[in-house]
Amino acid sequence: MLIEEIKDTIRQIPDFPKKGIQFLDITTGVRNAKAFKSMIDYLYEQFKDKQIDYVAGIESRGFIFGAPLADRLNAGFVLIRKPNKLPADTISETYDLEYGTDTIQIHSDAIETGSNVVVIDDLLATGGTACAACNLIKKAGGNVKAAAFIIELTPLKGAEKITSNSGVDVVSMLKYDIG
Ligand code: AMP
Repeated sequence: MLIEEIKDTIRQIPDFPKKGIQFLDITTGVRNAKAFKSMIDYLYEQFKDKQIDYVAGIESRGFIFGAPLADRLNAGFVLIRKPNKLPADTISETYDLEYGTDTIQIHSDAIETGSNVVVIDDLLATGGTACAACNLIKKAGGNVKAAAFIIELTPLKGAEKITSNSGVDVVSMLKYDIG
């Protein structure tokens, strides 16, 4: 499928969840079998030769892409979740939002020290969530090889933030000049 055809499967909702936000709705992309397969194919091509031990998906839409990618790479899948969802001992990372803060967690024993990890989410906006996820993986002992996304809102400069704050390479399939 061509990039423009894949983009056409992703619905845009103005003013969701609040005024001024153009929401890119991945649900219409992944319900299209060809588009979903193209997305996983793209991610697989980026990482097939990178000796990835774990794919870490960010709750919740990162799980949609992270789990099939891990399967194709013969890697493990690790969950990065919102607070109080994981049942065993956790490590946390708190990060700033426009108003207030948010926290994400991972099981403390999820990653063996020195393992190669790719962090996955559906969309890169300001990069705050992904930077926190990279820090969390490092705290857990992982070596973050890259942060990967299906969608990047390029004007928000999230990729620059991730590279300068976390020293991690960024990969994104569909670039949008909005945000
Ligand atoms: P950020 O931390 O600013 O990079 O925001 C990334 C997280 O917020 C991802 O988990 C996205 O799913 C979600 N998100 C941010 N902006 C949008 C948007 N315009 N459309 C859909 N999801 C978004």
